[in-house]
Amino acid sequence: MTLTKRSYLDFNATAPSRPEVIDAVVTSMRRWGNASSVHKDGRVARSCVEKAREQVAALVGGSTKNVIFTGSGTEANNHALRSVDAERLIVSAIEHESIINIRKDIVICPVRENGILDLGALEQLLSDSKKQTTVSIMFANNETGIIQPVKEVARLTQKFGAFFHCDAVQAVGKIPVNFESLGADSLAISAHKIGGPQGVGALVCRNLKNISSFIHGGGQESGLRGGTENVPGIVGYGVAADAALSGLPSFSNLAKLRNAMECRVLKIKPDAMVFGRDLNRLPNTSKFATKGLKSEVQVVGLDLDGISISAGSACSSGRIETPYVLAAMGVPEELGRCAIRVSLGWTTTGDDIDRFIASWKSLCDRKLVNN
Ligand code: PLP
Repeated sequence: MTLTKRSYLDFNATAPSRPEVIDAVVTSMRRWGNASSVHKDGRVARSCVEKAREQVAALVGGSTKNVIFTGSGTEANNHALRSVDAERLIVSAIEHESIINIRKDIVICPVRENGILDLGALEQLLSDSKKQTTVSIMFANNETGIIQPVKEVARLTQKFGAFFHCDAVQAVGKIPVNFESLGADSLAISAHKIGGPQGVGALVCRNLKNISSFIHGGGQESGLRGGTENVPGIVGYGVAADAALSGLPSFSNLAKLRNAMECRVLKIKPDAMVFGRDLNRLPNTSKFATKGLKSEVQVVGLDLDGISISAGSACSSGRIETPYVLAAMGVPEELGRCAIRVSLGWTTTGDDIDRFIASWKSLCDRKLVNN
């Protein structure tokens, strides 16, 4: 085991750039051209953007005409939820901040203690009011990896005539996602979670007529998002989408490594709480808490040993967030503040896990547990 290299176990925050993506971005930057220009340089840039649209559409089982490139997954979520004309917005209690913070009057639908959306509560909320409603439910949770019953949500929203937006930023590229069979009206996705560049995302829409322009400008992206396209970023996204699609089978094998890691964690601390252990989860994600061992102590201690993990979702200020996802699952705040997220990916090896376990065990042994 080489200890000079860091062990990166924070794929849900951002994935390492894939080498083929870096090459494609650099090549694209050497070959400038505005995708809206009529000359040859512009036409080449346009064809690169359209190729990437095909690659991204293939990853989500959608059609190219439904894919609008955005500046991030956050923007895609904002675009969908701000531009659809809805009097009422219902979101689950465990949505990402880019959904939860969208407006002040959101209606929160609870999740059950196991972290799965309460479908009965959603049906009740939908039947309670005749107001035009948008429902936003994520495909898989960024912190626990727990997969949500999105097909049932699509069925319910269709029954009540509501618009269904699905934040699939964490799911796409980790498990198969098919926009056509899902039945959602729109889907938000992001390049950097699958080894593409940061600052590129896409909104996949069933019917572009339901979505209004989010950034007004020169009519780019079917008139829905003005601004010169980020051609190198979009090209990189396309290459990452190809790689993620062909890598799906091997990504699913990460569950074995993750499960073995959790068994070792539980051997060291039998009272550790592993969230969603018996549920349908993303194969790469593990979230667990050990009473008395604070999240920040673990994040910093592991960092000093060359291991990158996080407490929960990455926050712009770098501070550790209030664990609202775990709180929504009924986890006491004190225990929630002892949780960490370990998220694996295609660079993860058994050595990384051995290193994590050795470092984590020594944190536990150093009697930082003060309960
Ligand atoms: N939605 C979920 C579930 C996420 O995990 C994230 C990022 O962590 C986002 C949206 C935001 O994506 P981006 O970082 O591209 O803005």
